[in-house]
Amino acid sequence: MLQQADETFQDIRDAVRALCAQFPDEYHRKVDADRAYPEDFVTALTRAGWMAALIPEAYGGSGLGLAEACVIMEEINRSGGNSGACHGQMYNMNTLVRHGSEEQRRRILPRLASGELRLQSMGVTEPTTGTDTTQLRTTAVRKGDRYVINGQKVWISRVQHSDLMILLARTTPLSDVKKKSDGLSIFLVDIAEAMKTGMTIRPIPNMVNHETNELFFDNLEIPVENLIGEEGKGFKYILTGLNAERTLIAAECIGDGRWFIDRVSKYVNERIVFGRPIGQNQGVQFPIAESHIEIEAATLMRDRACALFDAGQPCGAEANMAKYLAAKASWEAANACIQFHGGFGFASEYDVERKFRETRLYQVAPISTNLILSYVAEHVLGLPRSF
Ligand SMILES: Cc1cc2nc3c(=O)[nH]c(=O)nc-3n(C[C@H](O)[C@H](O)[C@H](O)COP(=O)(O)OP(=O)(O)OC[C@H]3O[C@@H](n4cnc5c(N)ncnc54)[C@H](O)[C@@H]3O)c2cc1C
Repeated sequence: MLQQADETFQDIRDAVRALCAQFPDEYHRKVDADRAYPEDFVTALTRAGWMAALIPEAYGGSGLGLAEACVIMEEINRSGGNSGACHGQMYNMNTLVRHGSEEQRRRILPRLASGELRLQSMGVTEPTTGTDTTQLRTTAVRKGDRYVINGQKVWISRVQHSDLMILLARTTPLSDVKKKSDGLSIFLVDIAEAMKTGMTIRPIPNMVNHETNELFFDNLEIPVENLIGEEGKGFKYILTGLNAERTLIAAECIGDGRWFIDRVSKYVNERIVFGRPIGQNQGVQFPIAESHIEIEAATLMRDRACALFDAGQPCGAEANMAKYLAAKASWEAANACIQFHGGFGFASEYDVERKFRETRLYQVAPISTNLILSYVAEHVLGLPRSF
């Protein structure tokens, strides 16, 4: 018999669920209220080996694919947690595994697998250029055995809870390249070292409990051995990471969506108004049923993106479409959940408002819904380019 969409990799699901059960709603609620980092939760995930899922066995990881990594993220969010605190490790790792040199892999991956180091941050977005990534203004200029970095980034997450960051910067001026996506490079940045020698961090208070920051680079020097892959090809490398990121975020939204559906279904069965369960009203049933259908459909697209990614095939369209469908489905499930909890949806102790805020982010980050629609219109359907 074929498995249900939420029953694939059942052994992984059971193990992650058992770990997450040690971190109940109260834990995540307190971390949110304190605007703290879920240190104990992330440490437990690391110790259990889940954060090393994508590291090949030869480097101390478990050598799993994106499909399994997605199931881990989905189950974290389904349990009431928020993978946003640690998902960076999954997609950043992949960039290093696929494009790093053998020396870099040997130097870093075993230490990530053991939990000695964290690679949770990726610095792409800039304040003045936003989604128009190829126009970014942070530069890396080679001087002997160092690159000198100058510029600014914004919304760079988990920098204060990571040891390493992958940074995208321009190594050849835009005026000297044939294609605007050429001339960009990616680097590994040792965060503690950088903070002593030219990088400043300014935290951004925000709607969710998400540690994210502005970064300023003032003649920060990075050793040449920290360049990942070939100079000038960084945009191509970062896209592989972005496809993994979009698929993982889709998984997280699916986990959120299932959490909202579970919670609201239970609540509308129990809440009696006008002498009957509110869930007996079709006006209540239909938005919940619709969200369930959309989450199931998003899961299929997510699984397709994973299958292509893990087979090393192009998956840009599927990764984007999975993220679009899942973010939309989780947001609609969030709205149904808060709506049918009535006033209680707004009370922190029900956790609905927290999850509602958390899942809202994914309409904007890591890529906005509009930009996905434009990608599908122009790159999949061949409509005229708008930019
Ligand atoms: C909490 C949080 C964490 C983040 N973490 C990271 C991180 O770790 N690393 C990192 O590099 N970035 C990170 N980001 C940045 C995130 O990826 C960007 O915010 C997102 O890609 C949108 O870019 P922008 O904010 O510059 O919006 P803009 O590019 O200014 O766009 C604003 C809005 O305009 C619309 N728009 C723009 N251009 C078009 C167009 N051509 N057609 C139609 N509509 C358009 C879209 O609706 C878009 O939402 C994070 C953001 C947030 C909020």
